[in-house]
Parts: sequence; C-alpha cells; structure tokens
Amino acid sequence: MICVVGGGVMGCTLTYRLAGRGLPVTLVEVGWIGQSGASSVPVALLNPYRGRSARASPFDREALASTWRLVEEVKSLGYETGVTRSGVLRIASSPKQAKTWRKRDTKDDEVRWLEPDAVPSGFHVPFGGFLALQGGWLEPRRWLRALAEAAQQEGATVLEGCDAQRLEAGMVHTSRGTVQASQVVLCSGPSLTLGQGELALTHVAGEVIGLESSAPLPYPLAGAVYGARVGGTFYLGGNHRPADQADASAPTQLQRAGSWFVPSLRDARLESVWHGVRAKTADNLPIVRELRPGLWFAGGLAGRGFLCAAQVAETLAEKLTAQRMLVESSSTILRF
Ligand SMILES: Cc1cc2nc3c(=O)[nH]c(=O)nc-3n(C[C@H](O)[C@H](O)[C@H](O)COP(=O)(O)OP(=O)(O)OC[C@H]3O[C@@H](n4cnc5c(N)ncnc54)[C@H](O)[C@@H]3O)c2cc1C
Repeated sequence: MICVVGGGVMGCTLTYRLAGRGLPVTLVEVGWIGQSGASSVPVALLNPYRGRSARASPFDREALASTWRLVEEVKSLGYETGVTRSGVLRIASSPKQAKTWRKRDTKDDEVRWLEPDAVPSGFHVPFGGFLALQGGWLEPRRWLRALAEAAQQEGATVLEGCDAQRLEAGMVHTSRGTVQASQVVLCSGPSLTLGQGELALTHVAGEVIGLESSAPLPYPLAGAVYGARVGGTFYLGGNHRPADQADASAPTQLQRAGSWFVPSLRDARLESVWHGVRAKTADNLPIVRELRPGLWFAGGLAGRGFLCAAQVAETLAEKLTAQRMLVESSSTILRF
C-alpha cells in the first residue's frame, strides 16, 4: 500500500497516476479536496512562458504537454475537468519588451505575436503582446474533484477530513485511524509537520482577488499579474512576499496593477480576497526526494503547481512502480 499525504494538486494527481498503474493507494487530506492549501486558488493558469523574460523552459513545455495528456485522459473517463484550452495572453509593458517578444513569433511555433489592434477589446495593449497557443486555465476545485473521483474509479481510497499526525515504519497514524503503508509520499505543500523541514523550502505568499466583471476577455491574462474570468468575476492574482509578512494593501495594489492591462477592472467591485502560500525550492524547480527508505516528498511546485504536477507525478509513479516490482521479485531487496 502507498499512502499519499495531502490532497492538493500534487497529491491528487499522484494518487490518480498510481491507481491507474494498478498500485494500491490511499490519499489522506486533512481538509477538503479543492478547498485546502495553495491548490484552493480560485483559478490557475497553465502558462509555461514565465518571468520577465517570458521564456518557456524545456521542463515547463514538457510539463504542459503532460498536463494536456492527463486532462484528455480524465475527460475520456467521463469527468468534467474544469480545464479550458484557450491559449494565454502576455501583454508587453514597454516598447523594448515588445521588440524582444515580437522576434519569438518566427522562432517558436507555439506563440503568435499580436500587434495592438489584433488583440480583442477589453485589454489595454499599447505595444502588442503574444498568445501562448498551448496555454490555458482551470478551476482548481473542479479539476481536483475530477482527479480524486477518477482515482477512486481506478481503485484508490480517498479520505478527507483526515489528518496524518505521525509516521512510523510501515504506518501512518491519522485522526481517522492507522493506514498501513510500505511507501508514504508527502504531498503536504508548505506544511512541515511530518519531517520535510530538512528540504529547505521557501514559503511565498500571494493573493487572488475576485472583481465583478462583465467584459468579454476571451483569453486569460498571463504575467506578473494574471487572471481569468469565471462567470461574472475576473480573478486577478499576483504578489510574492515571505509567508510571515502580512500586507493589508496587497488587494488594492493588485487591483491597481491589473487595471493597467484590463482598464475596466479599475473601479470594479471587490468581491473576494483569497490568500495562499506556495512552497518553492532555491532553483525554482519541483522536488521529488526519498527522505528515508519508504518516505518520499513531492512538491516545491512554486507558482506553477498546476502546470507541473502531471509531469512530476508521472516520474514518481514510474519510480514507485519499479521499486514495487523489485520488492516483489526478490525478498533480499525488501526494505520495508
Ligand atoms: C497566489 C497564488 C497564485 C497561484 N497561481 C497559480 C497559477 O496560476 N498556476 C499554477 O500552476 N500554479 C499557481 N499557484 C501555485 C499552486 O497553487 C501551487 O504550486 C500548488 O497548489 C501546490 O500544490 P501542492 O499539492 O504541492 O500543495 P498544496 O496545494 O498546499 O496541498 C497540500 C495539501 O496537503 C494537506 N496537508 C498538509 N498537511 C497534512 C497532513 N498532516 N495530513 C493530511 N493532509 C495534509 C493540505 O491540507 C493541502 O490540501 C499559485 C499559488 C499562489 C499562492
């Protein structure tokens, strides 16, 4: 039995992948799936073109492809995924940036440069921007539900309202009893309660605000401030600060920054403020590590957990399947 601790995007994706490989797996989540941790963010972009340079690393491109494969697979099982493949828009904020980005169009067939008059109304685009054609966005609550239900259909057990409190060789003691497990994977995000403190993750806080909006805005907005419209609400995200620093002005600043790109947001009514903390590694790449025999950690997904989780889960599921085969084929390799 494999026990996955934490039902955020990392834990739900991994549980689905392990169950799909026929491995016995139990997922334990202290809260409710889609409503806990950083993965309860109201909307998430699938955008590999990151940072000021807006470059897409080979890892992020591969991660995005992996995510789309997973989405298609879950859809084919009959689940509503809450994922939209719309492309994502990055708007240049200076003529210099526009000049650099415009050149990409000829080198990268996954982007299309748009002159200011080619961008749909509703956005403020004085210098142009580009459309990342393979990008998209999702509603995490719906995506995580779909993953958890698909995992159950493949044979996984999912326990919500279940706090993993203590680990012992071969056992996870939870608020709802003991789960026997030869392998435990901590997908507990920034929570350090079960021994992943040694990983030296940095915890970064940010907000997503909900603003009343009826503007059409066909593409999600990517960049330092980013967002997408769901029904009559435009969810605008941003901000990076140490998790222990409060900033009461963050929502107002976010609204001001976002209204440069979408002017109708300037006076829009503030409907909601969501705060979240993501865990980040020093090199900003996800981490999968065996902390000690039979105890793994998968996370450190920083600001792109929904982009990366499928790729990380595929890699780890492969590793755990191989280990299980070794354990089953030779008693001398049995370590648990
Ligand atoms: C403001 C903001 C905006 C973001 N925007 C995007 C975006 O647009 N695109 C994108 O790809 N990513 C985005 N992210 C990043 C993304 O949200 C995270 O990378 C991702 O959600 C991390 O997933 P996780 O499963 O590793 O951790 P989490 O989502 O934090 O999940 C950990 C889970 O473990 C549970 N848990 C912890 N301890 C225990 C225990 N002892 N027992 C049982 N359960 C436990 C928690 O309740 C939680 O549900 C954003 C993050 C923030 C903060």
